[in-house]
Amino acid sequence: MKVFKFGGASVKDAPSVKNVAEVIRQFCNHELVVIVSAMGKTTNALEELVRLHFEKGDWQTQLQAIKDFHFEISEGLFKAEHQVFDRLESIFEGIAEYINGANGKSYIEVYSEMVSQGELLSTRIIRNYLNENIHKTIWIDARNYVKTDYNYIDARVDWDMTRRNISEKIPVFTKDAIVITQGFIGSNGEGKTTTLGREGSDFSASIFATGLNAESVTVWKDVPGVMTADPNKMPDAKIIPKLSYTDASEMTYYGASIIHPRTIKPLAQNGIKLYVRPFTSPKELGTTIGADAAGKHPASFILKTKQVFVDFKVTDFAFIDEKKLSMIFNALDQLNIKINLMQNSAVSFSICIDKKFDKVEKLVARLSDSFNIEMRDNLEMLTVKGYDQVALDKIYTRKEVLLEQKSKDVYHLLYVPEKKHQRLGESA
Ligand code: ASP
Ligand code: MG
Repeated sequence: MKVFKFGGASVKDAPSVKNVAEVIRQFCNHELVVIVSAMGKTTNALEELVRLHFEKGDWQTQLQAIKDFHFEISEGLFKAEHQVFDRLESIFEGIAEYINGANGKSYIEVYSEMVSQGELLSTRIIRNYLNENIHKTIWIDARNYVKTDYNYIDARVDWDMTRRNISEKIPVFTKDAIVITQGFIGSNGEGKTTTLGREGSDFSASIFATGLNAESVTVWKDVPGVMTADPNKMPDAKIIPKLSYTDASEMTYYGASIIHPRTIKPLAQNGIKLYVRPFTSPKELGTTIGADAAGKHPASFILKTKQVFVDFKVTDFAFIDEKKLSMIFNALDQLNIKINLMQNSAVSFSICIDKKFDKVEKLVARLSDSFNIEMRDNLEMLTVKGYDQVALDKIYTRKEVLLEQKSKDVYHLLYVPEKKHQRLGESA
């Protein structure tokens, strides 16, 4: 059994969907479960729809644009009288009806129900196309399999129940059909839709693979594989052919956006290989992530934008002690904030965190009675994993560095980005 995952960029228009179908054709003699994301930037568009509803804006025009986008793609794939158009029509009617009746519902509940429609739409369209052109398929609703807690927008998986659902029912389907399902979505104990966090479809692929005890997961991407840097920012970036689970997981921790951070752990625990391959040239092998020690891989540059630096200074001429640190860590834990970098001195403790929702404001509000807090916004953090002097020489000195840290294998630099757009590796 193989699990494939196709992200939004791989199904952004009709020719892309045809390309995905051709990739699948080459593997349709295998037992296959295919996880698909929403098409193109649909998730963003649906988030905007939800925002407009809550701010009493014109959500109807936004919904029409999303509908037009999906109809246009479908017109490039099906004949005018195809039944898929009725199906889509009824999904869009359902969306409008839901929003009209959503007053009084919480933001996060409406968010998950509406944003999940992107994946439900894309899998309907793709399923129909594959059925007619490539192979028999079975469409399943991932919400009936992936069971989660009540955190609507960053839901935690109930592994026991989810694994049971998947392992008991899905292998029956894959005997003579390709199973098509949605990434990113699940449901809670009341059967209401939950979502696994933005870009969560990779994680879905790993959930299904675990339940199926699959031999591998392949994430088909618009890049040749895992690269040593973002090729748009560093033209001499190279593909890394082989990575260990540990190295890959560390790279996602530092901000490598190629794979969702929660994807690797379940695969590593079950010894399931992860391939990252280009959907534009499916013959290429891309990157293989597995248990084997892959040796020292080349220095990799990982850039995280939208970073915030927060410095907590003691107010009472005392030192930063364990009590004070534990206050800070408690607040971080309760707000579910991950520290990307930290540093302490005698009288202060500084952290670098992501700017996400209103979490930074909430953190400051909680601790401002106990500390003098200073903040710097709009920063970038560059991590070089497996660095050597040659790699560090590629980083030109920026105007203002807030924090620099080196450990044996990893180098971090937190800085104010230059206004003029310069690429990493270019001399100033
Ligand atoms: N469609 C969702 C998103 O854009 C999930 C995913 O693409 O992985 O965040
Ligand atoms: Mg996406």
